[in-house]
Amino acid sequence: MPSVYVGLGGNIGDSQTIFGNVLADFSQDERIDVISVSSFYVSKPLDNKQQPDYLNAVVHLHSQYSPHSLLKQLQYLEKRYGRVRSGQNWASRTLDLDILLYDDLIINDAELVVPHPGMLERDFVLYPMYEISPTIEIAGYGSISSALKICENRGLKKFNEHND
Ligand code: ATP
Ligand code: CA
Ligand code: CA
Repeated sequence: MPSVYVGLGGNIGDSQTIFGNVLADFSQDERIDVISVSSFYVSKPLDNKQQPDYLNAVVHLHSQYSPHSLLKQLQYLEKRYGRVRSGQNWASRTLDLDILLYDDLIINDAELVVPHPGMLERDFVLYPMYEISPTIEIAGYGSISSALKICENRGLKKFNEHND
């Protein structure tokens, strides 16, 4: 079954509970096997504008969904967890689900770009991915460890439920 990495993000509502519920939804989906889940991390918003910090995580799945049907499924879940699309990238949201990697496929069309085009610059993607899969190869690029070496750490922190 294809090996897929999905990034979770959110900064409105109880992100920790939303992530837990989404992971339970993945587990219950007959076409998805959850292989591993990273720790949860706290990151600053990408646009540096006034919006709450984000909770982020990466999940490794085996998926029987094709890339585009997985995207549809993720968008359905985003909607179910209250995401309202403002038309603006990087706007505050209850839930963002991005396909980071889909096997070693390189996809580039109007709906879907894989590997996710922002991932190499995003500490909140690379650190959690490295945590669960330290030897993963990023299609068209190289190893996760080489990506991490040149990625700026923007102050990513592990989420500690006792402090937040
Ligand atoms: P970014 O894509 O930079 O992380 P974002 O998550 O805020 O920004 P969205 O508004 O969630 O962006 O998504 C905009 C569009 O991106 C979606 O409608 C979807 O078709 C497209 N898209 C392209 N590649 C991907 C991918 N790998 N995973 C999820 N969506 C993608
Ligand atoms: Ca995103
Ligand atoms: Ca997205």
